[in-house]
Amino acid sequence: MSDFDREHVWHPYTSMTAPLPACEVASAAGVRLRLADGRELIDGMSSWWCAIHGYNHPELNRAVTEQLGRMAHVMFGGLTHAPAISLARQLIAITPAPLQHVFFCDSGSVSVEVAIKMALQYWQAQGQLRRSRLLTIRGGYHGDTFGAMAVCDPVNGMHERFSAVLPRQLFADRPRSRFGAALQPGDIDSFAALIERHAGELAAVIIEPVVQGAGGMWFYSADYLRQVAELCRQHEVLLIADEIATGFGRTGRLFACEHAGVEPDILCLGKALTGGYLSMAATLATRRVAHGISADGGVLMHGPTFMANPLAAAVAARSTALLLESPWQARVQAIEAQLREELGPLAAHPAVAEVRVLGAIGVVETRHPVPVAELQRCFVEAGVWIRPFGRLIYLMPPYIIAPAELRQLTQALTAGLALLQA
Ligand SMILES: *Cc1c(COP(=O)(O)O)cnc(C)c1O
Repeated sequence: MSDFDREHVWHPYTSMTAPLPACEVASAAGVRLRLADGRELIDGMSSWWCAIHGYNHPELNRAVTEQLGRMAHVMFGGLTHAPAISLARQLIAITPAPLQHVFFCDSGSVSVEVAIKMALQYWQAQGQLRRSRLLTIRGGYHGDTFGAMAVCDPVNGMHERFSAVLPRQLFADRPRSRFGAALQPGDIDSFAALIERHAGELAAVIIEPVVQGAGGMWFYSADYLRQVAELCRQHEVLLIADEIATGFGRTGRLFACEHAGVEPDILCLGKALTGGYLSMAATLATRRVAHGISADGGVLMHGPTFMANPLAAAVAARSTALLLESPWQARVQAIEAQLREELGPLAAHPAVAEVRVLGAIGVVETRHPVPVAELQRCFVEAGVWIRPFGRLIYLMPPYIIAPAELRQLTQALTAGLALLQA
């Protein structure tokens, strides 16, 4: 079975001729993945930020099966349904108050494309056709489609490969000021200079609030985000917050914008939205943006086939309710405290450059790129699922993980450092 997979099935960011190894998963429940050969792994990844309640959750299973008995899907053009309406109502209630309009789509990257279209169409409808560029910060990640790629970090993203076809956006320096600390003098200067110089041609600023995810797992000062929002307001540039990774409690707040008290004009949600069950994302907009687009009779030019898929919407609504009913804040705080205690001492390891912890995210940054296949084998042998990339070994477990299980993850991570060069 896995020979066929190696030969014929693409996995993310790996070669078709010499792919990194892939473990076959037969089932998953709670925080455990069961492999086809019977071994069990404690999951340290939440399947890339998604499975916040763990796997095979009885209530989420019920939400899907109940909806399946009614209908799996109907088109959203000219039709609507209760799961989409309930989910929209919930999302509007829990996100910053000005966000009142919801666009449902199928993945995070597409929700970023939709956010960019909203910003462009907003300015077109205002007759400000020059406002068509985006400003962001270095070190970001916003997805793999073309509009999103154009605002990913220009060095570690995919700019060079696709430079001929990507629009040229503007990049400010990555903030140096750390999360939990005040803004360092001069840290906002690069951003401030760019927004000042280019305000007349900018449609929007797009930014991951407080936590930059796949672009480097970097946690920056909430003051910086506050300044970004203030500069956007001064220069009348729309602010797009990409909370696809940070949303639904991962950083210790329901949404990372809350750390800075910032209210974006447009908000992207994805990943944990469905609790890791189905692919769905949402782009929320303020009344000003949504009504602005339609001011001259305009309509938002996007409409995916599987828009607001009822199965996904039903499980997303249930997942969100489950989160809000749970003591998620206490759980994330407990994970944070344990990660600090158990990963913190690794900062002294000769192969480690730095250890960072925020909410239910623990990051060990190494001095050199890690041998992914070797480390993965070592972790699987230790009974855990941790998938490093570049110079980053990181944990972001389901919130329901027990202290002893989290300890197995941090111990395996610690043991894995023996494979690294100083
Ligand atoms: C994962 C991610 C995306 C892209 O989402 P997909 O569902 O993979 O398309 C966009 N922005 C951020 C911040 C992400 O973490």
